[in-house]
Amino acid sequence: MWTLKNILTGLADIVFPSRCVVCKTVLSIDKGMRICPECFSQISFVKSPICSCCGLPFISYEGTDHLCGECTSSKRFFSVARSVGKYETPLLDAIHQFKYSGKITVGETLGKLMSEFSYDSFSIERYSLIIPVPLHQRRLKERGFNQSVMLAREVAGRHSIPLDFRTLKRTIYTKPQTSLDRIQRGANVKGAFEVMDGERVKGKRVVLIDDVYTTGSTVKECARVLIRNGATEVAVLTLARAVQG
Ligand SMILES: [Zn+2]
Ligand SMILES: [Zn+2]
Repeated sequence: MWTLKNILTGLADIVFPSRCVVCKTVLSIDKGMRICPECFSQISFVKSPICSCCGLPFISYEGTDHLCGECTSSKRFFSVARSVGKYETPLLDAIHQFKYSGKITVGETLGKLMSEFSYDSFSIERYSLIIPVPLHQRRLKERGFNQSVMLAREVAGRHSIPLDFRTLKRTIYTKPQTSLDRIQRGANVKGAFEVMDGERVKGKRVVLIDDVYTTGSTVKECARVLIRNGATEVAVLTLARAVQG
């Protein structure tokens, strides 16, 4: 039946058709996941064998999951980290667009990708709280939105897990991590986060959400602070994983 809503939606589709968030091709169907089949097929999804702890994909496609060198030798405050795909084209382009354009439709698509992906040896249902990696107030003002909150919102909604983006705060304004090496990155974020109300994380199994895992310095520091404030477990989910050569 032709209702006014139907007609308006139809008109909107003609004037503003749904497009692939990567290549901008007009999509014939829009179920909220706005990536065309061609771009989707080009995503390097993270697959076994990976590090059973930090999720690092190993270069060889053979063998089983095992600990990487770094996870064997150093202590981590998170139990497990997993990512959807490698930080390469086309996922990299979509993330850049999302971060620098702030388009909600791009965020929804990437969040859907994150919430519907089946991660190796990891089940979101086991967790009781979703926390996005916070931005400092000043960075939030510059950018206008926190990309991790938008991703976390999709994951929390899809799995019906409470979302908390107020308790973990970034209290120190740090330099962007992109210009720093591994050691500098660790030092840069040390002491940058605080839990405002310990009761809200106490006894919780937390999934910490971020867009990209590079050296893991940021999520390691967030996990340390959450565990110190009484969280039972912290797992990390990121959309993309940077794999250094
Ligand atoms: Zn496309
Ligand atoms: Zn590892």
